[in-house]
Amino acid sequence: MTATITIPDPAGAGEHPLFREEHEALRSALRAFVEREITPHVDEWEQTTFPDSIVQRMGELGFLGLAVPEEYGGQGGDYFTNLVLAEEMGRSGCGGLLMGLSVHTDMVIPPLLQFGTEEQKRAWITPGVRGQKMYCLGITEPDAGSDVAGIRTRAVRDGDDWVINGSKTYITNGIRADMCLLVTKTDPDAGHHGFTLFVVPMDAPGVIREKKLSKMGMHASDTALLAFDDVRLPGSAVLGQVGRGFFHIMWELQAERLIGAAGCLAYARYAFDKTVAFATERFAFGQPIGSFQAIRHKIAEMATKLEAAQQLVYGTAWSYARGDYPVRQISMAKLFASRTAWEVADACVQIHGGAGYMTEYGVERVLRDLRLYRIGAGTDEILLDVIGKSYGF
Ligand SMILES: Cc1cc2nc3c(=O)[nH]c(=O)nc-3n(C[C@H](O)[C@H](O)[C@H](O)COP(=O)(O)OP(=O)(O)OC[C@H]3O[C@@H](n4cnc5c(N)ncnc54)[C@H](O)[C@@H]3O)c2cc1C
Repeated sequence: MTATITIPDPAGAGEHPLFREEHEALRSALRAFVEREITPHVDEWEQTTFPDSIVQRMGELGFLGLAVPEEYGGQGGDYFTNLVLAEEMGRSGCGGLLMGLSVHTDMVIPPLLQFGTEEQKRAWITPGVRGQKMYCLGITEPDAGSDVAGIRTRAVRDGDDWVINGSKTYITNGIRADMCLLVTKTDPDAGHHGFTLFVVPMDAPGVIREKKLSKMGMHASDTALLAFDDVRLPGSAVLGQVGRGFFHIMWELQAERLIGAAGCLAYARYAFDKTVAFATERFAFGQPIGSFQAIRHKIAEMATKLEAAQQLVYGTAWSYARGDYPVRQISMAKLFASRTAWEVADACVQIHGGAGYMTEYGVERVLRDLRLYRIGAGTDEILLDVIGKSYGF
């Protein structure tokens, strides 16, 4: 009898068991869509920000409500469908679109689903999923970012209404959004029990889009400074329970961090793939630069770190999707993924040499864009603190 000899396939890791046939079908559909309708416009959108029409188009194609129940216009898929969306948007090479869409699909719509009344769900989720309306999330203020409990935006009850005053900054989609999911303080003496979330229509009198902010990267997205000047809302604008807003938003932050981790890794992989191609084609001293041990090892380091970070994200996503609330693990995934993505993007620029510094090769943009992930949705330092404290310190 002849023994079967298995020849190793160096690239043959196969698909992750997290994803089933329907996820892979979705991935193929998204990849084809990105190549056809996003890739040709990425450079232009860096100058103009992505157009509302791409959001509408994605809504028409059903990509904005993948994990939303069908009764609210979604596709009724599981959590992993949103992971696939974030990964394919990351692969598009358009960081601003990845971020703007993640805010809409993974940071605003899930709390509406989780805490919203039936009326709120019908009013906001369905048009959001269809791409007819776009949303933003207002947590950060000029004087309070990491310290969420230090926010000053106040909502005061007046009869059946609430009156809101304050300001929010660095708000993604803030210039274009139709609605802001706003974190306010309703009882400053009640500590963590004194916060309340509101669904604020951005055309309500007193909502002011003060300024479009200029930033280091993510140029395809808009980022705003917002002011709320005596914004009067009915009681039906409260999302979830009065006084429970801090806990509601901490719940939201977990999903925000996890989807951010998946998206930034996919975006780093986009730069990695470009870099492998470059290292194959670029010659120095008569040979492809990838064949120098120094470069080959850098590529090996990047690939290994990306793989390790991705496994951590997938393992965490599996736990989250089955209903766990794995705050420590999510914090680790976001911390490790965003650091890895940043290191990979930096190495990609280095391997490109002077070309890496030029905009036309696209890797400097990834480096600038990815820098955000170590700041937004929980800085490295805050995540390290969450992880450290989870051991009882
Ligand atoms: C492009 C962009 C988009 C964003 N989009 C949104 C959005 O859509 N909605 C929204 O609400 N926010 C958004 N943010 C805000 C973002 O989440 C905050 O910038 C982030 O949480 C940090 O807050 P901060 O900027 O106020 O920094 P600070 O909290 O002032 O922190 C400054 C520094 O001090 C460190 N630090 C603070 N506290 C501690 C501590 N206890 N221990 C150790 N170090 C500490 C921080 O790690 C950081 O290095 C966005 C930010 C950017 C840049």
